[in-house]
Formats: sequence, structure tokens, C-alpha cells
Amino acid sequence: MNEGQDLKVTRALLPPFEEFCAEIRPLWDSHWLTNMGEKHEAFQRRLEAYLDAPHVTLFTNGHLALEAALTAMGLPRGGEVVTTPLTFASTTHAIARCGLTPVFCDVREDDFTLDPGKLERLLTPRTAAIVPVHAYGNPCDAPAIEAVARRNGLKVIYDAAHAFGVRVNGAPIAHFGDATVFSFHATKVFNTVEGGAVCCAAEDLVQALNDLKNFGIRGLDEVAGPGGNAKMSELQAAMGLCNLRHLAGEIAGRQRAAERYNERLRGVRGLRLPAYRDGVEYNFAYYPVLFGDAVARDAACDRLAARGISARRYFWPLTSDIPCYRGCPNAGNTPVAASLSGRVLALPMYGTLSAQDVDAVCDALSGG
Ligand SMILES: *Cc1c(COP(=O)(O)O)cnc(C)c1O
Repeated sequence: MNEGQDLKVTRALLPPFEEFCAEIRPLWDSHWLTNMGEKHEAFQRRLEAYLDAPHVTLFTNGHLALEAALTAMGLPRGGEVVTTPLTFASTTHAIARCGLTPVFCDVREDDFTLDPGKLERLLTPRTAAIVPVHAYGNPCDAPAIEAVARRNGLKVIYDAAHAFGVRVNGAPIAHFGDATVFSFHATKVFNTVEGGAVCCAAEDLVQALNDLKNFGIRGLDEVAGPGGNAKMSELQAAMGLCNLRHLAGEIAGRQRAAERYNERLRGVRGLRLPAYRDGVEYNFAYYPVLFGDAVARDAACDRLAARGISARRYFWPLTSDIPCYRGCPNAGNTPVAASLSGRVLALPMYGTLSAQDVDAVCDALSGG
């Protein structure tokens, strides 16, 4: 870290400037800037190959992709959707904005994801879907969640905003559920400035998603229904094509930083480090550590801030504590999520975070 220079919690992945210029050069010839142009089509094909997904539908951001995925499932209005409160507000907002009721399920202590053992008791005749979150890039227990879903005829839509590039026993994370939604926001491991995508296998879902993101327009004189606008532009897609070439390097850099954190922080009393499971290829999207209690967490956050290091209380408060969701089923009844949310702190994490940067954070944490 340069002396006196702030250390942010993340740093957006950027390709070399010249590489981006070369990528967008053809757009200056064609004057084609959006509406599924050549970059959009190329990026979509590259993602389908990278994610080994039958279909990838691109969106202008992850939130609208999530809303579109929920809408495309044709869930009954007023239906209940079981999700977790330890997430970014977007997950819960998407459910609510689609006219559905979020139902809050607790998470597992070790990896922050939906606890399948607490899922079934939350189901009612109105339950329509489950929206689990691969929190911090930790893969949910998909087999257990989907067994419950199958038994009860429920759709499963994964919020994989944190999990781009993650693999489980060799399989890309997009292989699970009825749909998987990614965010390509600047703060994520892989970005298109703003952007998102829905991955799915069902053909009819693709048509519905395309209708939703482009006004329902199917041809010059055919409008299929009331769609909105959530298309990814050519410039976003060009950024995606470039950044995809640098993703492996970004993840490798993050892994080096995570390993140095692990080494340096292993002995620090009262601190719990991220747990990594065998068979999972992680993307090291975040480095969340757990303190003994909220007082210790907040004190550490202040100590870091005093040294120009910004850490984040991701995810606090729980979305079930946002006033508009306090009345939702099982809000306030997720003790593990509540405990984690009060104790968690996401430390700086990005591909170019140097060993000295990590040391500066660790020194501040251990009082050195
Ligand atoms: C970032 C994020 C989203 C929303 O994605 P955007 O691309 O910012 O709209 C949704 N869910 C989670 C868990 C996120 O972290």
C-alpha cells in the first residue's frame, strides 16, 4: 500500500485500456450501440461456453435479471418465496417487487448459505419458489435444497451474484436449480461495469426473459406482452469480453491474498476465518471474518478506518430487519443469520491486493 493511500474493500477489474479500445473499435464503424448487436451475441456465446450453460440471457444489471427470472417463472402473485436475510437488499427487493412475499429461512453457521434443515417447516400452500443465495461465493447445499423443492413442486432460482467462476465438483455453479442469476456489477469478481445474466436450461424461459428485457418485442410488428427494458448494451458486452480474458488472473490474485490472510490471521484470538470445502473451486469474491461479538467487530472496523482501510459490514443489517420486511413470515426468527450479521466483517479483497496491503490490514487487526 502506498503511504497515505486508502485501501478500499474492493477494486474493479479492468482490462488494459488499449484492449478495451480495440474491442469497441468496430462499434465506431457500425454505429450499433445496443439491441443485441455483435458484442452482445459474442459475449453471450462466450458465457454459455464458460458457464457450460444451455442458455445465457444478458441483462443490464443483476437486479433486473433477478426480477426477470422470478417473473418468467410465472409464479402466482402473492405467492411466498423462501430466501435468506443475510444478503444484499437486492435479493429481497426483487422478490417483493415481483408481487411475491419473502419468507426468511435461517442460514448455516459455517458458510452463510440457506440451511436446508430449516427449509421445509417454512413451506405453506402458498409457497411458490426458493431463492437461495451463494453468499460470499460459498455454494449452497444445492442437492438438499432441490430435494425439498422437488418434493413440494417448487422452483429454485439461485442468486449467484457472488459466485461467478465458482465450480462444485467440477460443475459450474450455473448447473443448479431452474435458473441461476449473476451480477456483473463493478464491485463483483467479474464485471461489465453494470450487468447481469440469467442461466437456465428451459427453452420457454429464454423467450420469456427476452420478452421481459426488450418490451416484449419479438419482431418489427409483433409485441408479445408487457415487457420492460433491461438490455445489456454493446459497450457493457465489450467490457465483458475483455474482462473474461483476465478473470483467471483476477481469481488467482484473490486466492494469493486469501492465502496470506489465512496465514497471517490464523493465530489471532477471537477471529474466525473463512472455511473452504473440498471439491469447491472458489472465486474468493470476499474475505469475510467473524468476530466474537458486534462490539469487537465494530471496534476492528473503526481501527481499520483510522488507518485508511475500509472494511464492510456485509451483510448488516439483515434484510428482514429493513422496516418494510419486518412483517414478513419468519422475520426475526433467524438466530444464526442474526448472530453472523452482527459479527461479520468483509476485509479488502481484489486481484491486485498486494502482500503488503494484506499485511497492513492484518497488522491493524492484530493491533500491530
Ligand atoms: C450485487 C448483488 C445483486 C444485484 O446485482 P446488481 O448487478 O448490482 O444489480 C443481487 N444480489 C446480491 C447478493 C448481490 O450482491
